[in-house]
Amino acid sequence: MSLTSFFQHHVIKGKDIYVVDDHHKALAAWALVRRSLAEPPNLITIDHHTDTSEAFRGHAHWETHEGHVKDREVFRLGLVARIDWHSNKSIADAIANLRHDEHIDAAACSCVLDNAFCIQLSDSCATPSIEEIAFRNSRQENWPNGATVATPTRPMTYVPASNRIYALPFDCFIGCSTMPHNDECNVRHSDEIIETMYLDDQLARGAEISRCFGLSSLEAAPYILDIDLDAFHSRRAINPRDPSTFHRLIRNAVAITIATEAECVDEEWLDEEDSMSSSDLLKELLGHIER
Ligand SMILES: [Zn+2]
Repeated sequence: MSLTSFFQHHVIKGKDIYVVDDHHKALAAWALVRRSLAEPPNLITIDHHTDTSEAFRGHAHWETHEGHVKDREVFRLGLVARIDWHSNKSIADAIANLRHDEHIDAAACSCVLDNAFCIQLSDSCATPSIEEIAFRNSRQENWPNGATVATPTRPMTYVPASNRIYALPFDCFIGCSTMPHNDECNVRHSDEIIETMYLDDQLARGAEISRCFGLSSLEAAPYILDIDLDAFHSRRAINPRDPSTFHRLIRNAVAITIATEAECVDEEWLDEEDSMSSSDLLKELLGHIER
């Protein structure tokens, strides 16, 4: 059994590029990359969604609902324990039972990946810092009088996550002072997704997290760059004015995985007057990789 049916493989300037339609099939490519390295690589993913659900949650829920399984969590953890990245059959079986957003947890829990960092547009709080958790707890305990600890300011500190998955927080587009943020903010924010100024800010936020477990920056250890095309909501977004940081992330990645997710691209697209399909976006992205 071969894993090649899960992806299209391109080699661009000597770099392996794996294109999948459904994002969870990227697990096949990640397993192949894992086999080529002495240690599991990190993942830097750019995606509209956080994709941080627990592996096999959906399948375990369904099997319990149907009465095939007594203890959902025992069943779920059993499936996780069976993932063996040396074995094509094991990886193919895992992919068959993974649903949306569960692939990163599956890969991290089976040591296909080490740490995963998610640059995303759907959860501004994302992985909370120690200071943010303390502030939130203090506010709850002292309601309605307000928190007794100071409002958190960056840089912040983080506890290493048991699954080693971190969703990077964001405020809005760089320099936004609108409060509360509105629909126009959403457009400008998503337009910046691979703009150097924005990515530099995301990488700085990521470094605040990674420093807490001894990694000086997200680029300081081998990483796979993973891109879900639904992160792009306009033509402007895939054509940044300054792509230098994005191109550096491409250049230094050990491999690149791309999820085309055509339906999600349509769902998240924000410019009604200038539409692009997932295959248009893929062409543009492969152009960035060529450059
Ligand atoms: Zn805003």
